[in-house]
Amino acid sequence: MKCFKCGHETFETTTTDVTDLDSCLVVIRHVPCSECEFCGEVYYDGETVRQLEKITDTAKTISNEISVIDYEKHENAA
Ligand SMILES: [Zn+2]
Repeated sequence: MKCFKCGHETFETTTTDVTDLDSCLVVIRHVPCSECEFCGEVYYDGETVRQLEKITDTAKTISNEISVIDYEKHENAA
């Protein structure tokens, strides 16, 4: 796919997704994504976005101040 921002090619990689909720910070590591080789913009596909929402919802209920979750491990457990 091409970057929506600058039109350069993207490549498959993984990233660390950080969601800042009011009560806590959710850090999800090894998230599969496409990253722009030019501007560094990161894109998730629809399935990944749904999975991230699920992980974030789960993390909220744990209510640690900071939750660090491995995407790959979570996916295997589900
Ligand atoms: Zn770009």
